[in-house]
Amino acid sequence: MFYVEPHIHMVSRITDDYVRMARCGCVAVSEPAFWAGFDRGSAAAFATYFRQLTQFEPKRAAQFGIHHFSWLCINAKEAEDVALSREVISIIPEYLDQPGVLGIGEIGLNKNTKNEVIIFQEQVELAMKTDELILVHTPHLEDKYKGTRMILDMLTADQRVKPERVIIDHVEEHTIKPALDAGFWVGMTLYPTTKCTPERAVDMVGRYGRERIMANSAGDWGVSNPMATPDFIRALRARGHDNATIHKLVYENPLRFFMQARRFNFQPPLPVARQRTEDE
Ligand SMILES: [Zn+2]
Repeated sequence: MFYVEPHIHMVSRITDDYVRMARCGCVAVSEPAFWAGFDRGSAAAFATYFRQLTQFEPKRAAQFGIHHFSWLCINAKEAEDVALSREVISIIPEYLDQPGVLGIGEIGLNKNTKNEVIIFQEQVELAMKTDELILVHTPHLEDKYKGTRMILDMLTADQRVKPERVIIDHVEEHTIKPALDAGFWVGMTLYPTTKCTPERAVDMVGRYGRERIMANSAGDWGVSNPMATPDFIRALRARGHDNATIHKLVYENPLRFFMQARRFNFQPPLPVARQRTEDE
């Protein structure tokens, strides 16, 4: 079955991961800009990272028949340094028109601090000015509920933000409903330790349905599983979901969200209707 991996940090993964994903039917990956495991310390380091995301990584993915999308931003962890963040925000527009860039992300909150809020809002401002999609990282563990609430409140208070152009990622059982109720897309991250397991994600599909929802591995430089989306497909099958439902969750939904991007430039192997989710 064809699938799309909507959130993975391939710069931290080995080429063999592309091989394994391609074997399982992966046709496209989307890679948000994130923390590298260490603070980069200069805008020039981010410029190099943006070039890696938009120029080098798509070529590496293409060798295995996988299309590579990316997102640009300064992540919440490094946003604590407001001066550096503003410098990075000022160079992002230079890279937005690179092929495969879907928008601004993953922006969000980490420890829900004042500085993180300032930089989150400045990047929402940039996305509004440049007409970009937004991918939002929500905090981990004990900071998740409060941080998700703060993010949803900031986004819904801004009349310019169209919820169907924003995905709230790393949702769990206690944060998925307010995000869906406000009209946003949601991403369930399947992580071996924290976040969510494939089985819990299948439970959430049972409870909240198939609209504006997708799952991802968020594979990165830490303990994570780049094959988590194929595991999700197996878990859906084991629970009796039919092929049409699985195809919608792992292929159509991510592509339908991405297709709204100004530069969407991918011819998927199976067509996806450009219809609004409300019309379904
Ligand atoms: Zn991520």
